[in-house]
Amino acid sequence: SPTSDRRPIRDLPDELISQIAAGEVVERPASAVRELVDNALDAGATQITVRLLAGGVRLIAVEDDGVGIPPEELPVALRRHATSKITNLHDLEAVSTMGFRGEALAAIASVSETALLSRTQDQANGFLLDARSGELRPAARSRGTTVEVKELFFSTPARRKFLKTDATELAHCVEAVRRHALARPDVGFAIWHEGKLVEQWRATLDRADIDNADKHQEALGRRLADVLGADFIEESVAVQFKLGNATVSGRAGLPDAARSRADQQFCYVNGRFVRDKVLTHAARSAYEDVLHGQKQPVYALFVEIDPLRVDVNVHPTKIEVRFRDSREVHQAVRHAVENALAVPRAQALAAAAA
Ligand code: ADP
Ligand code: MG
Repeated sequence: SPTSDRRPIRDLPDELISQIAAGEVVERPASAVRELVDNALDAGATQITVRLLAGGVRLIAVEDDGVGIPPEELPVALRRHATSKITNLHDLEAVSTMGFRGEALAAIASVSETALLSRTQDQANGFLLDARSGELRPAARSRGTTVEVKELFFSTPARRKFLKTDATELAHCVEAVRRHALARPDVGFAIWHEGKLVEQWRATLDRADIDNADKHQEALGRRLADVLGADFIEESVAVQFKLGNATVSGRAGLPDAARSRADQQFCYVNGRFVRDKVLTHAARSAYEDVLHGQKQPVYALFVEIDPLRVDVNVHPTKIEVRFRDSREVHQAVRHAVENALAVPRAQALAAAAA
């Protein structure tokens, strides 16, 4: 009930600030998995292994072979708003890494028992930092980083209560890795649950060939087949289109491949998986004449655009973006998919006429 007593204004304790922020960033185990895989990719990893217990609630361990973190920076990595990825506003506006807010590790550590184990090229051995106790000690490790997250939400039972069954949380974790895997055929991924290998996608593109458009497209096709199944490739056509500042590539499913659920619609902007109304509307409108009723098309579309023309700092989880010229992006995606679908349509018409 309202009271006339006035309470003094006070700064919140640091830990509580992080726990509040964690509410935005870490909704469930899959959100932590996504952030940790983002970090591994930003560190230049070529192989990322995710190990889970109890759908990720009891343990999430993400292991990479990236550049690592030197021991003196391990405590810094856990601090709120501490990042190696940007240093000024200019960097922010042109950001090309997955992360940049310096929030994820602090948020995750504030609602779990987190440990960092890492070794850089220059170190003779690795170092292990226990986030809770602050204890830092030498530990064996090859180059790279392992982030171990135990007992997620143990300190925030309200949040823990919202978690679903282990099987459901596991499915979300796998989906989070799948989204990364689709965009990065140059990186190998493995997911283990309760000691069993759940998914494994091997790298199909050599790092040296990463800028070779043909090899990249080929590797992407193989990765899409590995992750989404051979059917996805057989029932889709290649997309390759440039309009103004936007380049669109990937694959668009044929109308016959449409499903009742929109569970195979993957959109990426500069390699980042996004949920964006402009992109989904554009893709959907490309199917206007060929897809009727509630059927949902399948596609994996990769939009590349000058980082200065897209704002990724819209949402704490960065799943939403804002385009400077959303009309141009809409047209690019719509035409890209329409053009891709036009070839098989013309072939089908010709076959029907013959
Ligand atoms: P952000 O990714 O936005 O910078 P994070 O809290 O996710 O913020 O990570 C903080 C910092 O810790 C990163 O900027 C990076 O320097 C370091 N870091 C985190 N994970 C890794 C990793 N797997 N390999 C190397 N460095 C990492
Ligand atoms: Mg990060």
